[in-house]
Amino acid sequence: MSSNRPERALAIPRFVGFPVSDDKAPRSRKAPRFVIDREVPEVTVTTVHHLNCGTFKPLGVQMVTHVLLCETADDGLVLVDTGIGMSDAADPSTLGAAANLLSPDLTTGSSAYCQIRALGLDPADVTNIVATHLDYDHISGASDFPHAMVHLTEVELTAALGAPQPRYRRAHIDALTGGRFKAYAGTCDALLGFSGAYPLAGLDGLWLVPLQGHSAGHAAVAVRIGNRWILHAGDAFFHHSAIGPSAPTHASGRRRTSLLEKLLAADRSRIGTNHRRLSELAASHEHDVQVLCSHDRYLFDQSTTESAP
Ligand SMILES: [Zn+2]
Repeated sequence: MSSNRPERALAIPRFVGFPVSDDKAPRSRKAPRFVIDREVPEVTVTTVHHLNCGTFKPLGVQMVTHVLLCETADDGLVLVDTGIGMSDAADPSTLGAAANLLSPDLTTGSSAYCQIRALGLDPADVTNIVATHLDYDHISGASDFPHAMVHLTEVELTAALGAPQPRYRRAHIDALTGGRFKAYAGTCDALLGFSGAYPLAGLDGLWLVPLQGHSAGHAAVAVRIGNRWILHAGDAFFHHSAIGPSAPTHASGRRRTSLLEKLLAADRSRIGTNHRRLSELAASHEHDVQVLCSHDRYLFDQSTTESAP
């Protein structure tokens, strides 16, 4: 991990290992393989805010766009996804016909930029953005933070630079590649039961966890805060019932959400595997790992600002 700060011993003396769920590895209850997070230095994320940066109502189901705003001790502010930016919120027609089919209900006040200011923080302090993928609803707001470094998988960047697709907006990709970005590929480490993850350059405690399916290079983002992890799974699932019990108050729309998830997936065959891996993680570590996604309103409503002890 590249960081200008000297590595310090992990504040937590020992952290639990996680069974590895490797697609290619035989699964055995008797002899699970474990990974110890021995190399993780002291984390620097001090507070995580949960922002809804874009409401949509596809098929009549209200969906949020769940963005994480991380305050760090030494690295300014870090966004996990950006949601819809100010200019696109002011004129949603720029998002294209496909977006309008999702019935966007947007205001500039819902942009990450405006919500950061409302929290009394300075948007100019956003130094890094970690993108689960480059769909317009996840990266539109990057243009509001032109000096931030954008972290993403190389596969996702390559897909977005390829043949035009409605999910990627040219202006967003041009703004991204015209600025600062870091694309991750190649060998990576095991984390949270996933066989491959990238520690983010210069950002202790944040990891990119490839989880393809929704898009070609889709990834989850793991954020370590204090003794816990938050795993933002992006669009790897759409409804909380995919990885755990369904909340009666938010059960409606489950089938329509599932249909939408399949319609928008680049590779539907991976949806079930991703759900299974995430549900295993959520069930086995319900007290130390919070698994959430981008568009589920129940999980967003359940989330509260969290500060490291
Ligand atoms: Zn999305």
